[in-house]
Amino acid sequence: MAQHRTHDVLILGTGLAGLRAALEVGSQLGDSVDIGLVSKVQLMRAHSVCAEGGTGAVLRAEEGDNLDLHAWDTIKGSDFLADQDVVYRFVERSPREIRLLENWGMPWSRRDDGRILQRPFGGHSFPRATMAADKTGFFEMQTLYDTLQKYRNHHRYDELFVTRIIVEDGQFRGLTAIDMASGEFVALRGRALLIATGGAGTLYDFTTYSRTVSGDGLAMALRAGLALEDMEFVQFHPTGLVPSAILITEGCRGEGAYLLNKDGERFMADYAPKLLELAPRDLISRAMITEIEAGRGFAGPEGLDYLHLDLAHLGAERIQTRLPLIREVAMKFVDVDPILAPIPVRPAAHYSMGGIECDIDGATGVDGIWVAGEAACVSLHGANRLGTNSTAECLVWGGICGEQIADYLRAGSTLPELPDDCVRAEEARVFDDLLNRDGDENPYELEHELRHLMDACMGVYRTGAALRVGLAQLETLRARFDTVRVDDRSRIYNINLITVLELENLFDLAGVALRSALAREESRGAHARRDFPARDDASWLRHTLVRKVGDELQIGYKPVRITHWHPAERSY
Ligand SMILES: Cc1cc2nc3c(=O)[nH]c(=O)nc-3n(C[C@H](O)[C@H](O)[C@H](O)COP(=O)(O)OP(=O)(O)OC[C@H]3O[C@@H](n4cnc5c(N)ncnc54)[C@H](O)[C@@H]3O)c2cc1C
Repeated sequence: MAQHRTHDVLILGTGLAGLRAALEVGSQLGDSVDIGLVSKVQLMRAHSVCAEGGTGAVLRAEEGDNLDLHAWDTIKGSDFLADQDVVYRFVERSPREIRLLENWGMPWSRRDDGRILQRPFGGHSFPRATMAADKTGFFEMQTLYDTLQKYRNHHRYDELFVTRIIVEDGQFRGLTAIDMASGEFVALRGRALLIATGGAGTLYDFTTYSRTVSGDGLAMALRAGLALEDMEFVQFHPTGLVPSAILITEGCRGEGAYLLNKDGERFMADYAPKLLELAPRDLISRAMITEIEAGRGFAGPEGLDYLHLDLAHLGAERIQTRLPLIREVAMKFVDVDPILAPIPVRPAAHYSMGGIECDIDGATGVDGIWVAGEAACVSLHGANRLGTNSTAECLVWGGICGEQIADYLRAGSTLPELPDDCVRAEEARVFDDLLNRDGDENPYELEHELRHLMDACMGVYRTGAALRVGLAQLETLRARFDTVRVDDRSRIYNINLITVLELENLFDLAGVALRSALAREESRGAHARRDFPARDDASWLRHTLVRKVGDELQIGYKPVRITHWHPAERSY
């Protein structure tokens, strides 16, 4: 029998987007509101704490930066798939978020004159990565969390794993969840919901993402009838550490690091003669794979051939003050001190440009549901995100969604009924069916095969043939999932069961991503088709939308909003 809990607003996800939204609602409505903050891990273990390099914003108009330039960089970086009204809203609001954090006590790195320091980043034509050394996300999360303590209007649900978003008659009804510590099934009601569950990085094996980033919110939204947008666009970050894929921040190249092939050449001169190592990520990742395939990489373990990221010329002091985490990671994980020797790197799955479809305010079209952060596809990044624009997006749309939700609550929205039959059916699905299934498939083996399938079929380069193979293999794997076995039959901290639920979500998302990628017969941003190598604006200047109708996935499209800049050739 499920335990019932009720709040005015439920914030599903406590990363940068969720915490920023909670602060906005909490500070606007004070004691008149009751917020439920839900996370499947401890609050400060949300993936956002891993963000390293910086948060993008225009702070230096007097030195030559301006909003149009940030907008142009973002739109060109997106390969013209970003919605341009969204981009302008973003660049106008992100400086305010930096100042808000500053007021709340964020320890930004400083220049000698005391002003906030900003460093260069890929695809940005002005240094606008605002950072706290190379631990930016950790300090941003800490600052938001500390500030939230001023308010008493929220209740934390850590280690509460949400299994279903219930929508009926176009309206948000509630959530169902497993309380991992007690093993109880929980039903949560609220007048409004913010989905801020992050991306889907663990669709891939070689990924910079934390183990917990499994696209749960996206998959639950899809099953609840919401559309997923642009899921073919997965970003590969050029510098994943070999062999673990831990992120080596772009901040290294922002500080001046070189990418070298095995002949010691700065090969980016052949691919992006002006920006070199500071070209956008899609371009650099393709260049790296091309170098490796041409035999100019180093032989790595298990086929993970790599190139070198050389920081040594930056000098010990700069590395120790600006990139202390990177030095620590390289020394601990590959026994390389970057002050003395280059770091082995290759492209790694890093970010989902796609996500849950929403409008410019983060509204999903379902009454009472908003979405923010990496789970959302507000269409800011288009086909390729620029580094630093994600943490900034989380802050900007966390704030915007918070404002929208506060208005919605003020307008006197009523608490919708949570249908009992839905809650009972979900409890039975999780505890009677999944937990007691007598199958013989090992979920960890299935997960391993799925992630390798995605690495092989939908990596930096794609072809129609490989994507078709991927879809066929996915079907076979998905059929095997029907007889998956949960060895641990207990309810308390059953990580085995949680893995199976996450795997189910990954299966749904792999199907959406592979189908979207197969359908898009062009190359744009992070979607590089070897069989369709050119961008095709006449046919493909549009967003992909996937909906689940019954058991079928249906693909549709919608236009890109071009308000300022017409698509042009991208050269760097
Ligand atoms: C290593 C790394 C470094 C990065 N560095 C930068 C950077 O320097 N600058 C930049 O702009 N971007 C960076 N990014 C991207 C950026 O960090 C992320 O896009 C952003 O932090 C995502 O924040 P979020 O709030 O959307 O979600 P997250 O921080 O991922 O939070 C998701 C939340 O949802 C909860 N959740 C998920 N599923 C469930 C469920 N089923 N039940 C209950 N709760 C659930 C989680 O517990 C968590 O609280 C980096 C990414 C990586 C991988």
